[in-house]
Amino acid sequence: MAEKKDYYDVLGVSKNASKDELKKAYRKVALKFHPDRNPDDESAEAKFKEAAEAYEVLSDEQKKSRYDQYGHAGLNNQGGGNYGGFGNMEDIFSQFSDIFGGGFSNRGQQKSRGSRGSNLRIKVSLTLEEINEGANKKIKVKKYVGCKACKSSGAKDSKSVKTCHTCNGSGYVRRVQQTFLGNMQTTSACPTCHGSGEMITNKCNVCKGDGRIYGEELINLDIPAGVSEGMQLSMNGKGNAGSNKGGAGDLLINIKEKEHQHFTRDGNNVLFELDVNFADAALGANVEVPTLTGKVKITLPQGTPSGKIFRLRGKGLPSIQGYGKGDQLIHVNIWVPASFSSDERKALETMRASKNFQPSDNDKRERKGLFDKMKDFFNG
Ligand SMILES: [Zn+2]
Ligand SMILES: [Zn+2]
Repeated sequence: MAEKKDYYDVLGVSKNASKDELKKAYRKVALKFHPDRNPDDESAEAKFKEAAEAYEVLSDEQKKSRYDQYGHAGLNNQGGGNYGGFGNMEDIFSQFSDIFGGGFSNRGQQKSRGSRGSNLRIKVSLTLEEINEGANKKIKVKKYVGCKACKSSGAKDSKSVKTCHTCNGSGYVRRVQQTFLGNMQTTSACPTCHGSGEMITNKCNVCKGDGRIYGEELINLDIPAGVSEGMQLSMNGKGNAGSNKGGAGDLLINIKEKEHQHFTRDGNNVLFELDVNFADAALGANVEVPTLTGKVKITLPQGTPSGKIFRLRGKGLPSIQGYGKGDQLIHVNIWVPASFSSDERKALETMRASKNFQPSDNDKRERKGLFDKMKDFFNG
């Protein structure tokens, strides 16, 4: 290892320099040998580190007095030996952020070269049963995903990421504009690096520098119970990956309802049309009806009229807010046969002759009431 240069010579200051003078001197030397201005110049980088080391020692009272007394030997392993405590450039930038900060290489900050990925929309069709229970679906989504080869950086390797020359890594450029109020300083995103402060010299072969590739991801959808047609759920950060760590968009999930074999949905209620044969309606019967959670038996009383609505409480859908459940409404349709045997015809003729088979005025009034109820029911 070459003989170490005198720290005061490195910074070009006298032994009596004030803290402020030291800082100014260091800044001057650091700017001169800054790696952004001397790309791929190893001697400049060495000088840059040397200056950082000199400043680290001379700006520290204790280290300075030891150095003044014993020279480099007085600093063994204490910020003197191996370029001070600086393992790499980042350390220097972060340690002296008051000098480099705001406008110089803020490499420690996670600035991103890329732009945010776009939102992604998918449709998910659910049965009423799934909506009733809540559904867990694993779905393969084709989309932009981060490039594994370069960890989304877009750079072939860490050496391929260089500080932007236009803005010296700050990510923004200042312009002085003359206005009628005088000179105004404006700051805008650097046009070269789009605000990232970085440039890539060698691009990743896999993603061609984009930091992302078109691929697919298996996404676990946890859909809450009670969703409905047209509802949109969103998952943060599950959309398209952004370029160069620009952050992912959201995944927007559009809910579709599959048509059900038996039921129609009305809010949180489910509607069911029950065809009842004429004899069952007249005599009364136990009939089985389907629900979202299996079959149940209901009892039709003797003389069940067409249009009657039975209500199964709590057999509808849960509310999305998580409290309360809708009902299942069973609407009775009297089914009338169109053909019959001669014996059946005789029986029906007998019924027709009976006054029990003529609706009374009272029955008509009840029917009217029922119709009103049905109107309310169907109009919500
Ligand atoms: Zn730039
Ligand atoms: Zn890549």
